[in-house]
Amino acid sequence: MSTPSEHREEIVKEPSMLKQKAMIAANYDRLTRAKELGLKVSSTYVPGNLNELLMCFDLLNNLPEINAIQNGMRKQSGRLIMDAEKMGHSEDVCTYVKADIGNMAKGAIAPNGKPMPVPDLLLLSYTGCFTFMKWFELLREEYDCRTVMLHVPYQGDGRITDNMRDYVVKQLKDEVIPALEEVSGIRFDIDRLREHLRKSAEAEDDLVWVLESAKNRPSPIDAYFGGVYYIGPIFTAFRGTEDAVEYYRMLRAEIEERIASGKGPVTPEGDLEVEKYRLVVEGPPNWTSFRDFWKMFYDEGAVVVASTYTKVGGVYDYDGFRHDPERPLESLAEYCLGCYTNRNLPTRVDMIQRYMEDYEADGVLVNSIKSCNSFSAGQLMMMREVERRTGKPAAFIETDLVDPRYFSAANVKNRLESYFQMIDQKRGGGGSPARAA
Ligand code: SF4
Repeated sequence: MSTPSEHREEIVKEPSMLKQKAMIAANYDRLTRAKELGLKVSSTYVPGNLNELLMCFDLLNNLPEINAIQNGMRKQSGRLIMDAEKMGHSEDVCTYVKADIGNMAKGAIAPNGKPMPVPDLLLLSYTGCFTFMKWFELLREEYDCRTVMLHVPYQGDGRITDNMRDYVVKQLKDEVIPALEEVSGIRFDIDRLREHLRKSAEAEDDLVWVLESAKNRPSPIDAYFGGVYYIGPIFTAFRGTEDAVEYYRMLRAEIEERIASGKGPVTPEGDLEVEKYRLVVEGPPNWTSFRDFWKMFYDEGAVVVASTYTKVGGVYDYDGFRHDPERPLESLAEYCLGCYTNRNLPTRVDMIQRYMEDYEADGVLVNSIKSCNSFSAGQLMMMREVERRTGKPAAFIETDLVDPRYFSAANVKNRLESYFQMIDQKRGGGGSPARAA
């Protein structure tokens, strides 16, 4: 999930992008120099990450999925996945895991070409994906380091109860914080946590504003292909930092300007001139052919106005969640409980339906990821239900995260072209395209 900014450099050179690129480079620099700098490292996953808490103990945050995405966008992951398969990992295993295991076998090289540090801690915040647990079992075997698990109950009934919140808070107090104190040698300071959470909430406000700007016609952003860059800092090692606050402030100002001048979204080939189709997309993107995949949309004037993938590391728009410095541990618990893949299928259907209505979308597209069960389970049912409720056409395509063998460009393109024709027919000639200024 997220934001390999080196590649965005070719796409757009707005100040926010340059800032994000510098932030990510500095973070990889810190990670690969951790030992020399005397810093300890925690590996953790994007959904349910406890970045603000880790920073209270001066721990660096290394996110294995982000490393897999970086390798995917650099076209390295295919080889790493095949290496992992030769080591005995089945074809059906999540390809983030195999890209990471394959990379580990080759010395765990970071995007800056230097070796990643051996983690001092594996912090598993379990928010709905069973694979995360198996993945850390493999890393624990390799690194033999301290492992802590925060068990987050699934929102089976579509709501967070007081018991669920209390259960997570108790684990934070009794298990997670003592382990972080022990690994880091630093005592927990709740005021330090409050300060990070205040910055998180400030950045979250601006992120939501940016995502909701897609309600404009034309939309000034693409909330999927552009959106994966926008969620980068907040979903990774920067939530709760001043850098993230500044990044989102800067991004918001840039989008405000785009709206004022009536511009559509930025694409790798410049501004989109005519917005012909407004889509909601469910499911993660394909990373190995990310640019080709995006081109299939903007060549047809298709703009994604809302996506569920941009909620995978935190849902901030749907029910207004913000990290709260007045309720520090409770809001960390609610953040974990509210992650997209920790929500049941009826809630996900309601979310997509609401996006379709609020963003006046022409249809919903599901990108079903071959090796991601957390997203893929139930997607056909969800698609049919949203179609039934909204009367808008839906389509289903299949790709993979970082395994290039499962991206068939011709098939995806054909499917998308037929889908756009279907939307045209359904409109019956109505719904004129929005032309950017
Ligand atoms: S199965 Fe899906 S949610 Fe789980 S680790 Fe893999 S990509 Fe992430």
